[in-house]
Amino acid sequence: MNIREFSQDLLKIYDEMWKSFSDYQKASGLHCLEGCGKCCNNPEVEASVFEMIPLALRMYDENRLEEWLEKLDDPQQKHCLMYEPQSSDGSLGMCGVYRERPSLCRMFGVSGFYNKRQGVTLSVCKLIREKYPELTITRESEVSEEKTPMLVNWSYRMASLDPALIQDLLPINQAFKKALEKVALYALYQDQH
Ligand code: SF4
Ligand code: SF4
Repeated sequence: MNIREFSQDLLKIYDEMWKSFSDYQKASGLHCLEGCGKCCNNPEVEASVFEMIPLALRMYDENRLEEWLEKLDDPQQKHCLMYEPQSSDGSLGMCGVYRERPSLCRMFGVSGFYNKRQGVTLSVCKLIREKYPELTITRESEVSEEKTPMLVNWSYRMASLDPALIQDLLPINQAFKKALEKVALYALYQDQH
């Protein structure tokens, strides 16, 4: 695998994914709350190692591989180390690596999925649901695979680039650390050739 080409291809998918989910939020009126970062403050955010390669490459290019490997060796927090909180309880804040953030971070707010009976269902973040209760019910009644960005379609899209992108999910800090280690190996190989 050419790691740079892989990263460029994945970033293109990430950009399209962001547009799809963000356009849906705008069109549906089910927006994330202003300044909210509560989901980033949750230790359950997961990603695959390969999803974190673009971010790891960026750190390599910025000469920050070692800095991040050290931070991730003994993380002082369980939730994402890339989160930049703006309030004391951590509920407000922003992503420090917005362009390279992995797929879950792009899809979490509002997205479509298939339920056990293969019906299309809308998944809406609890905070958005509480802020727009009536609109949520309306949008749930209108949900369709044509109008709603579907989680599974984007998973297929990533898997078509590389199946490893959707396999073996880890807590985000661990996935990032392993991606940095892969990039460090790549750097070593570059140095020797
Ligand atoms: S990568 Fe960014 S969006 Fe994703 S959990 Fe971390 S801070 Fe939040
Ligand atoms: S998905 Fe929910 S918790 Fe996350 S930023 Fe949007 S409103 Fe906040």
